[in-house]
Amino acid sequence: MSSRVISLDLNSDPKNIWRNCLNSIKENVPAITYNTWFLPIKPIELVNKTLKIQVPNNFFIEWIEEHYNTVINKAVKEVLGESGKLIYIILENQEEEDVDFTPANASPVVETKPVKPLNNPESPSLSFLQTETDGEDLDFNSNLKPKYQFDNYIKGESNQLARAAAYAVSENPGETSFNPLFIYGGVGLGKTHLIQAIGNRILTKYPSKKVLYIAASDFGSNFVDAIQMNRVNEFSNFYKKMDVLVIDDIQFLINKEKTQDLFFHIFNTLHQLGKQIILSSDKPPKDLKGLNERLISRFQWGLSADIQPPDFETRMAILKNKCNKFGIQLQHGHVEYIAYNVTSNIRELEGCLIKLLASSSLGAKEIDMTLIKKIVKEISTTRQVNVSIDQITKAVCDYLKVDENKVREKNRRKEVVLARQIAMYLSKVITKSSLKTIGLHFGGRDHSTVIHSFDSVTQMIQEDMNIKEVVESIKSKIEIGST
Ligand code: ADP
Ligand code: MG
Repeated sequence: MSSRVISLDLNSDPKNIWRNCLNSIKENVPAITYNTWFLPIKPIELVNKTLKIQVPNNFFIEWIEEHYNTVINKAVKEVLGESGKLIYIILENQEEEDVDFTPANASPVVETKPVKPLNNPESPSLSFLQTETDGEDLDFNSNLKPKYQFDNYIKGESNQLARAAAYAVSENPGETSFNPLFIYGGVGLGKTHLIQAIGNRILTKYPSKKVLYIAASDFGSNFVDAIQMNRVNEFSNFYKKMDVLVIDDIQFLINKEKTQDLFFHIFNTLHQLGKQIILSSDKPPKDLKGLNERLISRFQWGLSADIQPPDFETRMAILKNKCNKFGIQLQHGHVEYIAYNVTSNIRELEGCLIKLLASSSLGAKEIDMTLIKKIVKEISTTRQVNVSIDQITKAVCDYLKVDENKVREKNRRKEVVLARQIAMYLSKVITKSSLKTIGLHFGGRDHSTVIHSFDSVTQMIQEDMNIKEVVESIKSKIEIGST
């Protein structure tokens, strides 16, 4: 589209620039996210194409970067052009904890971390493009986040086996019988944290090992890029050179046969060489329908360990630990209230504290029971974000009595198209998944198809009461099912 770069001369006021960014962001995130994370940001100044914005604390930066990097990046590029950058400034005192963003002295802190470009050439999966893959000195980014460590991973009954196995693997990568190590469990239960902690510990213990972490969805989309660029061999060789390969959310490979084939070869090569493979998934191997049997059987060669939702004691321990880390002082009763009421996963517990922190550091509110209750309630009303795209698709297909596989294939029968469009629409409304990810779940359709479906369903809902009712009843079934 041609409206990408808005003239700077007309719009060099930081407020206008930021307002334009907000308009774009608003279209891409739910209202509650927009209000919590974007409205509190204040534009400060614009120098060249770098916009300085002020945020209340380090967690804002971390949270926004982790969850909304793509959205914010897109907005900044639309408004300021390709070279647009953001600089974060923090309001006043910072928490000491945050390694990523807090310089040692100076207040106010000026953070000079630019928004990373999309398709970042430094992204590990694309490193193969820049790297001569013969020779030993591969130069690439492991993609591990330093914040994911064993010592901030709280032990509990719910993660005992998974944690112990993960630790054992980090001691002797490739040398235990836990190869592959397959960690599975629901969303927000700590899979990513644990498998990254393994990678981080291995790099500390064995700095010369080549450790690579990648989300399966990135692996898949970069494979497609590699095909287009005729670089499949480089792509595959790059992975085969790793000592430790960590792939997150392997369920994303479902129904992507070519990607599965390639991964199968990489897996075999690494396994034969005694290299460590670590995988995570939302289900155990045997339930990964749509994944090639030969992969499923290999996933069962090593150890599969699940992570269950945390019990009350673990929730308390996690909350107390995070309160410390975030520098929030909560009364015991408040912590208990949260632990009793926010039960489904750790991401929600954390979300609750982060919202508390955000509300209180905006200076507006003191942390009291009223605020806590309000936030716990907000968290539970947005709980449907934890539903997966597959669950949504299943709910839609059950309701409309359409075969789920057809929805993922290229079938154009009217009722299949409708089911597919509704499933895409609800995936966009309910989950935080990107358009690209949603497209991938429907037989690798691209993001414009998702937008088109979203628009069509939005329109149908406005014009047709029947459709409106259908969509709403499916949505409420999904939400009830997820609590
Ligand atoms: P998943 O990958 O299973 O969806 P994550 O690993 O992203 O979940 O975990 C969600 C959040 O909860 C992360 O911020 C993570 O650090 C935190 N978390 C998960 N499990 C634990 C734990 N046992 N102790 C401390 N923090 C945890
Ligand atoms: Mg994860």
